[in-house]
Amino acid sequence: MKRRDVLKSLSLLPLVGTVEAKSIMKPFSAPAEANGVPNLFEELGVTPYINASATMTFLSGSLMLPEVMAAINSTASDFANMYELQDKVGAKIAEMLKCEAAMVTSGAAGALVLGTAACITGMDRKKIKMLPQLEGPQREVIMQKKHRYAFDQTIIMTGAKIVEVENAEEMERAINENTVMALFFNGAISWYGGEDAIKHEEFVAICKRHNIPSFVDAAADVPPVENLFKYQKMGFDLVTFSGGKMIRGPQSAGLLFGRKDLIEAAKQNNSPHESPIGRPMKVNKEEIFGMYAALKSYLARDHKKEWQLWLDRITYIQNQLETIPTVKGETTVPEGPANVMPGLQLTWDEKRVKITGDEVSKQLEAGKPAIIIRGQGNSLSVGVTLLRDDQVAIVAQRVKEVLESALQKA
Ligand SMILES: *Cc1c(COP(=O)(O)O)cnc(C)c1O
Repeated sequence: MKRRDVLKSLSLLPLVGTVEAKSIMKPFSAPAEANGVPNLFEELGVTPYINASATMTFLSGSLMLPEVMAAINSTASDFANMYELQDKVGAKIAEMLKCEAAMVTSGAAGALVLGTAACITGMDRKKIKMLPQLEGPQREVIMQKKHRYAFDQTIIMTGAKIVEVENAEEMERAINENTVMALFFNGAISWYGGEDAIKHEEFVAICKRHNIPSFVDAAADVPPVENLFKYQKMGFDLVTFSGGKMIRGPQSAGLLFGRKDLIEAAKQNNSPHESPIGRPMKVNKEEIFGMYAALKSYLARDHKKEWQLWLDRITYIQNQLETIPTVKGETTVPEGPANVMPGLQLTWDEKRVKITGDEVSKQLEAGKPAIIIRGQGNSLSVGVTLLRDDQVAIVAQRVKEVLESALQKA
C-alpha cells in the first residue's frame, strides 16, 4: 500500500476518546513528496521508516524541524568565513545557554574529541599539529569505572589513555601531572542502572581542587530543557549535547560549551584549520546555521504543551488498542537522566493474543509503511515523540492489525 492510500484509509477511521486529530497534528512537518520535490527514497529504493521508538543514529537520529530546514535553505546561497561563522554562532549560543563560550561540533562524539584535544593542547600550535602522537608521557583522562561506554573511544582517539577510578578517594589519588581532564558520563545510570559512585558535585569539586578540567557528556539528556543550563551551573568546564537528538537539529551537529579558553582551544583543534585532529569532523555552514536555529526553537518551545501533545498521542493509540481483548496500555517515563520522555507500554495475554513483542516488532518493520517499535516478551514499547503528525493514526492502526491477526477465539 502506498503512503497516500494508507492515509486515505486511515482518514475513515473514527478518532476515539476526547483527543481530536488536530491536537495530535501539531507542530510536525510535512513529508517531502507533498512539496512537489522528487521522492528520492522511491528513486533509490531506500525504505522510509516511521520511528515509533527513540532517537537512534542508525535510524538517522531525529527529523529536523521546518525552522531548521529554513535556516539551512536560506543560508545555502552565499559564502561565509567559517571562522567568523563559528565565532558569531558560538557567542550567540553561549549567551542563550548562559555560559562563557560555545561552538557547534560534529555531534556530541565530535565534541568529545575536540574537548579532550583542547584540554591536552591548549593553544599550543605544535601540540595541535602533532596530536594524537605527542612527545612525552601519555596524557591521562580520568573516568569512573562504571562510566566506561561506547563513546569513550573518542577520548582514546586523541592519544590519551583512560584511567579508571571506582570512588572519590581513588580519583584524588589518580590525578597526577599527566592528567589532562576528567570525563563524566551523565547517562550512565540510564544505561547501566545503579548510582554514580562519584556524584556530579563531588566530581567537579575534586577536579577544581586539582585544577583539572571536568567534562560532562549529556548528549541525549534533553528533555528536560533545564538540563541545557544545569551542568555549567554545577561547575563543569565543558558540556556536550547532541544536536540531532531531541533538539532536532542536524543529525551531524552537536554543541560543545563551557570555559572560554577551552572552547578557543577546541576551535584551534577543529576544521577549517588544515592539520588538527578535528579536520575530518567538519560541520558545514548550513548545518551550523541549522544547529543555531534548532537550539533557538528548542529554547523558545512551550515544553509543557509539547509534553501534553505526547500524552495525547499516547491516549489516542492506547484507546485504539485497548479495544483488543486483554491488551492494556500504560504510560511510562524513564527516570533519566537520558531519554526522559513519555512512552506507551502495551502488554497482552499471550494466550489470547498469540504473538510475542519481538514478532510484532519484526512484522511492523517488514510492513508498509515500515515502522520501528521495540518489543519483547508480551509487550511493546511505543515511542510517540518522533512521530510525524500524520503517523500517529498509522502506528495505532498497524499495531492493531498485527495484534488482531494473532487474536485467538475466547
Ligand atoms: C548519542 C550519544 C553520543 C554521540 O552523539 P552524536 O551527536 O551522535 O555524535 C555520545 N554520548 C552519548 C551518551 C550519547 O547518547
